[in-house]
Amino acid sequence: MTTSAPTARLGRADGREPVVLHGIGVAPGIVIARALVFDHQEVPFFRIPLLRQEVKPEVARLEKAAELTKNQLEVVKARTVDALGEDHGYIVDAQILMLDDPLLIGRVEQVIREQRVNAEWAVKVTLEELASVFDRIQDNYFRARRGDIFDVAGRLVRNIAGAPNRSLGKLEKDYILLSENVRPSDTAQLDWEHTAGLAMEVGSRTYHTAIIARSLGIPCVVGVRGLMKKVDHGAPLILDGSEGIIVLNPDRATLREYRAKRRREKVVGQKLEHLRDLPAETTDGFKIVLQANIEYPEECAAAEKNGAQGIGLFRSEWFLTRTRGAFPSEEEQYVVYRRLAERMKPWSVIVRAFDLSAEQLGDSASESEPNPALGLRAVRLLLRHRTLFKEQLRALWRARVHGNIKVMFPMVSGVGEFRDAMSVVEEAKQELRRDGLEFAGELPCGVTLEVPSAAAIADLLAKEAAFFSIGTNDLIQYLLGVDRGNDRVSYLYEPLHPAVLRTLRFVIDSAHEGGIKVGMCGEMAADPLLIALLVGFGLDELSMNAVSIPTVKNLIRRLSASEARAITEEALRLATVKEVSAFLGEELRKLTPAKH
Ligand code: PEP
Ligand code: MG
Repeated sequence: MTTSAPTARLGRADGREPVVLHGIGVAPGIVIARALVFDHQEVPFFRIPLLRQEVKPEVARLEKAAELTKNQLEVVKARTVDALGEDHGYIVDAQILMLDDPLLIGRVEQVIREQRVNAEWAVKVTLEELASVFDRIQDNYFRARRGDIFDVAGRLVRNIAGAPNRSLGKLEKDYILLSENVRPSDTAQLDWEHTAGLAMEVGSRTYHTAIIARSLGIPCVVGVRGLMKKVDHGAPLILDGSEGIIVLNPDRATLREYRAKRRREKVVGQKLEHLRDLPAETTDGFKIVLQANIEYPEECAAAEKNGAQGIGLFRSEWFLTRTRGAFPSEEEQYVVYRRLAERMKPWSVIVRAFDLSAEQLGDSASESEPNPALGLRAVRLLLRHRTLFKEQLRALWRARVHGNIKVMFPMVSGVGEFRDAMSVVEEAKQELRRDGLEFAGELPCGVTLEVPSAAAIADLLAKEAAFFSIGTNDLIQYLLGVDRGNDRVSYLYEPLHPAVLRTLRFVIDSAHEGGIKVGMCGEMAADPLLIALLVGFGLDELSMNAVSIPTVKNLIRRLSASEARAITEEALRLATVKEVSAFLGEELRKLTPAKH
């Protein structure tokens, strides 16, 4: 096992063949520039057995390195706050806190004492233990936190070994930064001004580095397998953060094509900026509310910048990473919800109640769960842990005094379950009254509509829920029986499957007949190909990653709702995904004729 210090190399690589690499586009935009490889200098771990009398000085060596690491991170934090704003300081805070965590430093010390080994080796042992814990976690979000711990540990080992910490310093030109992993604490050392784009082998949408790139407007592609093997330092490169594509050593024709695309995007972008404060309104006056999905409260800045009309989904599980896996108190939650409510006023903020699996919650029943996606999770789990659920609800009731906070319950499968959840809402209210705390007169409680059984009885649910928000990411996986995270069956994960379209139609119509609003917060809501279809369905709200809002708004403003309804009707008559997709593609081309 090795850890590393960052170094940067530049050079030229001419006359190479173009190579196209695919990843996940997490921040849109096209960049054409040369590659700057952000490499990792390997520091090998070595094992030295200690004599009894050497143990104490070794622990002191560890403590000294931990102290030094903390001081360095304080500096990194100050730079982060300086460059990115106060809200981003917590990223480094979390790492500073890890240095006090018994799971990390405490365990390293224990290994030194028990196994009588050098501190570097004890870090390696501890990391391997932590790695196996993280590898068992299914949730991508929590897996992404693995990077934070390894980041801190790498810095710690360098300090134990006395190796210098290198940084990229100030760059002369604009480059596309390529790395196996730009770790969250590296981000403060980067010269973002000259970082035109970023690509990494690891990462997910919710990795801190991806979030930072997105909020800085730096096109970014993550999860590019084999990137570091194929790249040449200084190689000419195209990065398309919208499509998740990297072209190494592009030829002239490709360069021409992407330059033209970039020009088009720029023009569109400029036009879109001007749309920021305009409503998402069709040519015949039908308005849709466009909201942002956020994983972190700090993403509100991007939501505002892109003209979001509120937050359609706050994945409140974020608290668990903030509080290092421990559950946040009612008070901690209240502060965050209240701030969100105040900031987004008068728009609404929909907080999704903790959407966790039993394993993430540390529930003992989880060990025997063969299929966690169908297991004890989300609202089912909350109903088993009523105190925890109630604390969240109490915090929400209280926060609503300060703005338009709403809550929705994930994975509701039927009316009985929804009523059970509502009984906890009522209990929370009675308790607040008893405790003499200030709380709102009502707390709108909705359903994250994502289980097919709930969709099938949407008419019954609509009589009791305050609103629906369709979680298509899960709805599609359960409806089509396709694991949304499994590469081998991903070709069957089809948002345009006629079964999905019919289900959407029923859910949306049921909501309206029941007199409630219905939104969509799954990834489907941001797909330009589908916007006409979604408008035609009559959805009231679409919630998506903030950067997609301007594009979606632009399309909506070109559509007429009556035409969109006709498009939806026609799409519902078609029998296969291929037919629906070809039809919608044709309709989209009419809306956005290609310009050269
Ligand atoms: C969904 O299921 O569509 C959704 C928005 O939530 P998540 O992706 O967090 O499950
Ligand atoms: Mg879901």
